[in-house]
Amino acid sequence: MPEIAEDAASRLALPVFEPGWVWLVGAGPGDPGLLTLHALNALRQADVVVYDALVDETVLEFANPHAKLEYSGKRGGKPSPKQRDISAKLVELARSGKRVLRLKGGDPFVFGRGGEEALALVDAGIPFRLVPGVTAGVGGLGYAGIPVTHRDVNHAVTFVTGHMAGGAVPENLDWPSIAKGSPVIVLYMALSHLGAISALLIENGRRADEPVALVRNATLKDQSVLETTLGTAAVDVARADFKAPAIIVIGDVVKLREGLDWLGALEGRILKRDPLDMRSKKDAG
Ligand code: SAH
Repeated sequence: MPEIAEDAASRLALPVFEPGWVWLVGAGPGDPGLLTLHALNALRQADVVVYDALVDETVLEFANPHAKLEYSGKRGGKPSPKQRDISAKLVELARSGKRVLRLKGGDPFVFGRGGEEALALVDAGIPFRLVPGVTAGVGGLGYAGIPVTHRDVNHAVTFVTGHMAGGAVPENLDWPSIAKGSPVIVLYMALSHLGAISALLIENGRRADEPVALVRNATLKDQSVLETTLGTAAVDVARADFKAPAIIVIGDVVKLREGLDWLGALEGRILKRDPLDMRSKKDAG
């Protein structure tokens, strides 16, 4: 497999990682197969890889064996390093002439503070490149057999963070608009506040029986999925002792999982035809 990727990389003439540059790269949600060729190209050339908590170890195995791997997340109960310190470290490493790969889970520009880090680089006059990644709220749901949009269900989707910078419930978000804005809502970092968030959504007009799915460790070998409803989500999460990281999707696209759980099908699940019951709806109409 790596040979195939390398062959593709050389044919595509992917960029050369120059010393003194920072590449801000999305690693995707975990399955190394979801790395882009640009990400692989970056891993192969970097002198230092500064990675965060959501980057899976198997992804790091693709790094150049001489690369220094630096963890920048929370570890062993210690508080996570301040964003300012991480940005300062990237600047310092680049100034010392290293090829600095800043590797983030999912996509760096989706609830990943990639924009803040990039702005700090621009401020310091450090040249940078951005490599987007597969974000958990799209690709992670795909691994659970849930399309984030489906023509018969939704023409819009809203991505929301369930966690403000200080860790509080995001009560200052415009929940009435979020509740009405689109038939499908995808929540990042929302597990610990799911009870409060569900209540806010129901208060603002969403149905308590609306389907909800939580995907834990999406795309990884130990991925697990909990299907529930908006009204019962918090209780079910507590009962199942469901842990982070989890991506949460609210809306009727969750019903499609019965028909599209392709990973489950690999293990023998029989996929349901017409999970939205469109045929009988068409006949009735
Ligand atoms: N930049 C990342 C998101 C970072 S915010 C991205 O684009 O995916 C962190 C949140 O992302 C987690 O709390 C969780 O909600 C979600 N997340 C990231 N990776 C995940 C995974 N493998 N499985 C489930 N949720 C994930």
